[in-house]
Amino acid sequence: MSHPALVPGAVAVVTGGASGIGLAAATAFAHRGLVVCIADVGDDRLAEAAAAVRAAAPDTTVLTQVTDVSRREDVDALAAAMHARFGGTDVLMNNAGVQPGSRMFGAEAVWQRVLDVNLWGVIHGCQAFVPAMIARGRPGLVVNTGSKQGITTPPGDPAYNVSKAGVKVVTEMLAHELRSIEGCAVTAHLLIPGFVFTPLTARGRTEMPPGAWTPEQTVASMMHHLDAGDFYILCPDNEVPRALDERRILWAA
Ligand code: NAD
Repeated sequence: MSHPALVPGAVAVVTGGASGIGLAAATAFAHRGLVVCIADVGDDRLAEAAAAVRAAAPDTTVLTQVTDVSRREDVDALAAAMHARFGGTDVLMNNAGVQPGSRMFGAEAVWQRVLDVNLWGVIHGCQAFVPAMIARGRPGLVVNTGSKQGITTPPGDPAYNVSKAGVKVVTEMLAHELRSIEGCAVTAHLLIPGFVFTPLTARGRTEMPPGAWTPEQTVASMMHHLDAGDFYILCPDNEVPRALDERRILWAA
């Protein structure tokens, strides 16, 4: 069975949709017949990304909007544009993220940027879109892109780990809130990728390292978990379920 919001004609927004996991997700949503809006910072790669999605799913409507998710006004403008054109949004994937590398006692500006994009970007998306999704009274879907690093918090890159641990908590709080609203058909989910070979992680490598996943494999797993109704969207990495289990926070849908 498919997630009730993932139906032909439903409207999906993917932030950070011009590359990597976001682009693969936009393509997968388009394949299912959804209208897709790719939102990403800067407009240099948006047209190329939209063309790639259209080529993969020619019958689908694909839009783009320049959006910096760290700016609430940009995210509000994105939600307003979708409302004006389609009456609202059914599927929101808060996926935009950066990983410049950080140190515990390193530059505050780096911490600020990572938290602004990775954590505030997700909060902005939830606040700007979800109340209207609830009010619409239709099945809705929110996917926030966390990270294995937000669960296992390995040493190194503290700002990124903090941001992704925050995304996990925000998603859990959102899920609690949605479940407490009678008749609400909007569900929230946390995507927990492991190591995915994208521009974020390639760092000059052209060959995919052993053990890495492609964005398409990651999104295939995401669609499988969404259709199954899972709250956590795990990539098959033994460490992540173990870490979740150790913290006794394994949730049912
Ligand atoms: P990517 O670099 O290919 O894609 C990230 C996209 O986000 C880019 O298109 C970029 O332009 C966009 N972006 C950056 N800042 C933005 C902003 N302020 N506003 C809007 N868009 C912005 O990377 P990816 O690997 O596909 O990453 C997607 C998400 O997955 C990120 O949140 C990342 O942290 C997460 N993730 C990735 C991996 C991995 O191994 N690649 C693992 C765990 C989690």
